[in-house]
Amino acid sequence: MDDVDVLVVDAGPVGLLLGTELMRDGIAVSVIDKMPSRGFFCKALGITPRTLEIFDDLGIVDRAIDAGLWLTGVQTWVDAAKVPARSMCMPEAVCRTARCRSRKTKRSGCSKRRSRSMAGA
Ligand SMILES: Cc1cc2nc3c(=O)[nH]c(=O)nc-3n(C[C@H](O)[C@H](O)[C@H](O)COP(=O)(O)OP(=O)(O)OC[C@H]3O[C@@H](n4cnc5c(N)ncnc54)[C@H](O)[C@@H]3O)c2cc1C
Repeated sequence: MDDVDVLVVDAGPVGLLLGTELMRDGIAVSVIDKMPSRGFFCKALGITPRTLEIFDDLGIVDRAIDAGLWLTGVQTWVDAAKVPARSMCMPEAVCRTARCRSRKTKRSGCSKRRSRSMAGA
């Protein structure tokens, strides 16, 4: 294990953001995760305006928006009947959200290792 000040056990959104913020404060961080890779299924299909503000502070908001899709409508079914389409004018950065966050963590100098577990947790 690296000689670090803080070991973050979570390469999910919270752990990566925590690692990045600590690195910005000059604290040496290592992030580990028991999963060998990021999950296949997206865990952040839509992101909120507050998340965009945080991305802006991290300097990745433009990249996140560029990598995302702007969804303009939603189609729903009720009891097998198609409901008339509704407008949904809000920004959505699809599965690339995690990739943007992960790149930022890497660029901050924070080491991230997968397939590592925290004993007893
Ligand atoms: C299907 C789904 C859809 C979602 N859609 C959205 C959405 O559209 N917008 C949105 O904002 N949020 C969404 N969420 C919620 C969002 O994904 C969670 O709030 C977020 O992932 C929480 O981040 P986290 O880092 O706390 O936890 P997690 O993402 O769960 O990450 C925890 C990590 O810690 C690791 N870990 C745990 N224990 C150990 C251990 N002992 N040793 C090593 N590693 C360990 C795990 O392997 C995991 O990778 C969705 C969630 C799901 C499941």
